[in-house]
Amino acid sequence: MPDAPVVDLLSDTLTQPTEAMRRAMADAPVGDDVFGEDPTVRRLEERVAELLGHEDALFAPTGSMANQLCLRLHVAHGEELVADSLAHVLRAEMGAAAVLSGISSRSWVADHGLLDAAQPLALMIPDGGTYQVNTRLVVVENTHNFGGGTVQPLEQIEALRAGTQPRGVAMHLDGARLWNAHVATGVPLATYGALFDTVSVCLSKGLGAPVGSVLAGSRDLMAQARIWRKRFGGGMRQVGILAAAGLHALDHHVERLADDHARARRFAEAAAAAAPGSIDPERVQTNIVVLDVAATGWTPAGFVQEAGRRGIRLYPVSATAVRLVWHLDVDDAGTDRAIAELVPMLQAGPQTS
Ligand SMILES: *Cc1c(COP(=O)(O)O)cnc(C)c1O
Repeated sequence: MPDAPVVDLLSDTLTQPTEAMRRAMADAPVGDDVFGEDPTVRRLEERVAELLGHEDALFAPTGSMANQLCLRLHVAHGEELVADSLAHVLRAEMGAAAVLSGISSRSWVADHGLLDAAQPLALMIPDGGTYQVNTRLVVVENTHNFGGGTVQPLEQIEALRAGTQPRGVAMHLDGARLWNAHVATGVPLATYGALFDTVSVCLSKGLGAPVGSVLAGSRDLMAQARIWRKRFGGGMRQVGILAAAGLHALDHHVERLADDHARARRFAEAAAAAAPGSIDPERVQTNIVVLDVAATGWTPAGFVQEAGRRGIRLYPVSATAVRLVWHLDVDDAGTDRAIAELVPMLQAGPQTS
């Protein structure tokens, strides 16, 4: 095995559960959650439902399953969802909506993942007739992962709601990192939640839990989701051990996301000072930095390899860019190290020996 990276910016999924989180997991009262008898799971579901301003919620093993359950609830076989072209549900869930639920999809191209309500509103066809597929759902991702941690403007979400609701098109929020949007803007989670029919959130990204996501919606939708979760193979037993990690994270790891945001911004400012074409620091609103290394002559693969040699792990996110993600296990010293190793690489460009 190669040496472990000194600073691991691959993803905010990498975090190790803290000692305190492990203790909370060990101490959790549990029961059989398929029979609805796990008190810790129930406590997590009630807490997240309340935070998001919805009637009920359901624990799911992964963010992908939480999303796919919601898509399945809103869109029948042969009907359609629309989402931006880099949305996680289209780009990073292995075609699950098509494979598992017979859902067809179309997309619009969003600038850095930023929502412009006019784009989905122009794209959707709620009454397709006998020729076009009926659009049943618009998916919004907040923050936007592959767009670079982009926070969606509340007024655009409101404009989308105003345009979809009268036409009977539902809205799902992929809020894997909604916590980051909330901490960055101060907008209450429930204000975001109220604008959507269903919401999914991840406990295993910036919040630092080892496993787990939660979906939220009406009591009726969540009752249906419970059935589909079992069908999808996601009915789990004494899973309060995992829910306890999520509850611990909600108590201790939400407000600290501001530290991740500040470190990501500090890196972006250093990168922009050395290589202005590589990043606009104003775009770095949360914990993700998408760095255009092609602007400095690097290929993403070449940059990732050289960064790895210097002890920094990154992800090549596109044909021109690499992604760096700050999280619980990268501190100020790690950020300094990333700046010290990567900024000179941007400045010098690739070696042409
Ligand atoms: C991580 C993530 C998910 C869930 O992915 P899993 O790998 O299933 O945990 C969903 N949406 C977004 C935007 C994500 O970043």
